[in-house]
Amino acid sequence: MALGGKIKDFKLDEVKAGTTAENLHAAVKGETYEKETMYPDFLKQAKSDGAKEAIRTLLYAQKAEAEHAKLYQEALDNLSPPADAPIYVCKVCGYTTTRLPERNCVSCREPASQYVRID
Ligand SMILES: [Zn+2]
Repeated sequence: MALGGKIKDFKLDEVKAGTTAENLHAAVKGETYEKETMYPDFLKQAKSDGAKEAIRTLLYAQKAEAEHAKLYQEALDNLSPPADAPIYVCKVCGYTTTRLPERNCVSCREPASQYVRID
């Protein structure tokens, strides 16, 4: 092994498949933990060990995990809304969405106050 480490015996956690939404939530949570906690801890150790190759690899992995979290979140956001989810319609342009924009209509850019909620 190039970095001189030895792999310890380990046991993987049991994986349970849930609904697609549950699985995506779990994936977002796991990737977020990796980018915000696990890799920063690994980097701290690699820096104190002066392991430059490890630092570079860990920084690459940390960036990849951040993107994975983003992609899983996008997939989660794009799942079909439940049948009872409200729908928002822009009174100006008719843009229809299940997510009320924070500021402006994504289509006509009028204020989000132009949206009406339809239950
Ligand atoms: Zn609009």
